[in-house]
Amino acid sequence: KDVDFTEFFNRIIDRFEMTKSQDVTFKRKLPRYPIYVEIDTDKLTQVIDNIISNALKYSPEGGQVTFKVEEKSDKIEISIRDQGMGIPKKNLDRIFERFYRVDRARSRKMGGTGLGLAIAKEMITAHDGHIWATSVEGKGTTIFFTLPYEMSQEDDWS
Ligand code: ATP
Ligand code: MG
Repeated sequence: KDVDFTEFFNRIIDRFEMTKSQDVTFKRKLPRYPIYVEIDTDKLTQVIDNIISNALKYSPEGGQVTFKVEEKSDKIEISIRDQGMGIPKKNLDRIFERFYRVDRARSRKMGGTGLGLAIAKEMITAHDGHIWATSVEGKGTTIFFTLPYEMSQEDDWS
């Protein structure tokens, strides 16, 4: 039932890397060993697909998208960073609301409904994780999310 998140994440990144049409470089800062988590892979695929799609949508030509997985004591922290136009501070929390889009004009050109991150938040919350964003206007955006995990899942001796 456990899923190796390292392999799972790498496969999703591979799929985007093979099909992207823009001049955007992918940089992976992932562990080289398995990290087992209990996740619904269909739902997590939907979450990660949307975050990467957003990152690509707002990436400039020649930009870089950085993927990172960090182990914390009781969770893993995943982040996806782009070098796009960024999001103004005052709008940062609202991007997880249904139908919210930062700038109607720029968003209309980009397509989409404004549901992607709201669905992502629902799914990450259902996995007992958290999701948030940081951004610097003109510099880029990073979306973070966490998933709970236990380092030693085989020690069931109680
Ligand atoms: P959908 O995902 O439903 O196709 P969408 O991408 O517009 O539509 P969300 O993924 O929920 O919707 O994102 C909400 C809004 O947050 C976007 O419209 C955009 O304004 C802003 N946003 C999200 N990700 C980024 C990013 N990486 N850089 C800049 N703005 C972003
Ligand atoms: Mg989206």
